[in-house]
Amino acid sequence: MSVRVRIAPSPTGDPHVGTAYIGLLNWCFARRHGGRFVLRLEDTDQERCQPKSAQAIIEALRWLGLAYDEGPDIGGPHGPYVQSERHRLGIYRRYAEQLLAQGDAYPCFCSTERLASVRAAQLAARQPVMYDRHCRELAPAEARARIAAGEPHVIRLKVPTSGEFSYRDRLRPKPFTKRWEEIDDQVLLKADGWPTYHLAAVVDDHLMGITHVIRAEEWLNSLPKHLLLNERLGFTPPEYIHVGLLRNADKSKISKRKNPTSLLWYRAQGYLPEALLNFLALLGHSHPEGREQFTIAELAEVFDIERVHVTGPVFDLKKLDHLQGLWFRQLPAERVRAEVHAAIDARFDALYPLLRERMTRGGDFLHWAEPFYSAALTVRREDLVPAGQDASAVRGLLEAMAGTCAALQAEERWTASDIEAAIRSLCEQRAAADPAQAPLCAPKLAFGILRQATLGRPHSPPLFPCLEVLGAVRTRERLAAAIQALR
Ligand code: GLU
Repeated sequence: MSVRVRIAPSPTGDPHVGTAYIGLLNWCFARRHGGRFVLRLEDTDQERCQPKSAQAIIEALRWLGLAYDEGPDIGGPHGPYVQSERHRLGIYRRYAEQLLAQGDAYPCFCSTERLASVRAAQLAARQPVMYDRHCRELAPAEARARIAAGEPHVIRLKVPTSGEFSYRDRLRPKPFTKRWEEIDDQVLLKADGWPTYHLAAVVDDHLMGITHVIRAEEWLNSLPKHLLLNERLGFTPPEYIHVGLLRNADKSKISKRKNPTSLLWYRAQGYLPEALLNFLALLGHSHPEGREQFTIAELAEVFDIERVHVTGPVFDLKKLDHLQGLWFRQLPAERVRAEVHAAIDARFDALYPLLRERMTRGGDFLHWAEPFYSAALTVRREDLVPAGQDASAVRGLLEAMAGTCAALQAEERWTASDIEAAIRSLCEQRAAADPAQAPLCAPKLAFGILRQATLGRPHSPPLFPCLEVLGAVRTRERLAAAIQALR
């Protein structure tokens, strides 16, 4: 049986670095075993999915060079490769009906109000929150009559109520176990007829001949339902392999609050796809010869799924910057020239309105735009601490500003006017709370310190629009470096 693997991202936002990571592992596995690598878009959650995002995933994979053998834009023998299109062909409903006919699924007529009150009661009683199986024992004739009368309903999977689920994932020393009674009667088909992820993914993995599902460990908890569905539908299940999730430095699941997660960001920052892939590859799979720099094609030759890390690798941008340097310095001059032009182009539209007033010729752009391009600034204590001020007070102010920036980023309010309002009010509050801090927190001084810390110079175009263009990630990195310089 020839190997067939897939990635199945949901197009709900910017293309995610986790998609590239899982894609890369699947790509290597397929290449290593002479198999095929499939891209499927899981867009059954119509409220959250956007066509723009589907297109961006395809473009990001193309930019990275993670070529798939079958997928939405290139077709293949098992298409369509977009679940909304498959839904319109009635594919998922057929399987839901098979389960109903076999008695392995049932219609559930519970209203959202009823479900909410069950949930509230369970929370109050500190019980696990799950469906109470109210409709599970309805007489089939009654259920049929209510469906025929047009009563809204979902279709739920009948999950066993006793016994234990156990699965040996080949990356993990111990089998993954769960008591069935802890597992919900999963909704398979929603009231509007759309399938949920669980039904659609299992059906498609089967119809697309997927032999190995290599995915992040966050899906382990869904595994019992997926294997149960395979069994009830009479499918031979793929082998499920769960790899470690990418993590922030504090070991939490990678999130945009703490790391840039969008592939578009890496591209706009001028990272090379080779470097980003090399970085992601090292997070998951060390090179058997201890090599640091390699292409994914080289990795595929020695790829061993059993060596992939299960303890979530920590995503460290410094490591990426190091690899980027290695790759970049090896580029031929012509490619560097193209990268320089691309870098200017990528930011020209955002920067030009800011720099315009200060430019009298093309080369001036390079002078004023410099802080926006350099990965890190050299920050000197003496530039950060205004005459007569105390370094630890400046540090305290910068720490508070860093906190404000983190909050704005988390709330996705990274605009010049929001940054300005938040920083102004922070300064006012600090001045009011401690009159000794008032001179330092006066806008002229405080904004000057912020400018030095983030743009590395005493003069710049208007500060807050500059910070908007610099972006939350870089602004926060620079604040952290400035705080460090004042320790
Ligand atoms: N659509 C799921 C996701 O967004 C796919 C999970 C899986 O690989 O089964 O990650």
